[in-house]
Amino acid sequence: MIQAIDHLGIAVRSLDEAVPLYEKALGLRCLGREEVASQKVRTAFFDAGGVHLELLEPTSDDSPVAKFLAERGEGIHHLAFRTDDIGAQLKQAADAGVRLIHAQPFEGAGGKLVAFLHPKSTRGVLTEFCAVKPGATAAH
Ligand code: ZN
Repeated sequence: MIQAIDHLGIAVRSLDEAVPLYEKALGLRCLGREEVASQKVRTAFFDAGGVHLELLEPTSDDSPVAKFLAERGEGIHHLAFRTDDIGAQLKQAADAGVRLIHAQPFEGAGGKLVAFLHPKSTRGVLTEFCAVKPGATAAH
């Protein structure tokens, strides 16, 4: 079951340029940075009242975020829902005819399990499911 909006992913060309914007213009505190090798991105997280903002900077030209930036420029990249059962969530989406980018969850930022739905079958919104790995405590 979906429990909450966990975070919004925002594609940026440079964390070093984007982080001060969120800190100075919005007064948000950066909770930390992390490189996510599986997605070829560096991330910086902010807390906005329980919903996190996840700034994403590509680490290579073949990163999915690099492709997004080339096609659409900087901006909102994905919407992530927290779920208590990522496998059941993926099955429900697939059963409803939604195309999955990942049929199996993998480890994303913060050690969470994540999987994405294809934006072509979700009305243009790249949708992520994320779940805390069993036995793990969420870093962010
Ligand atoms: Zn995400």
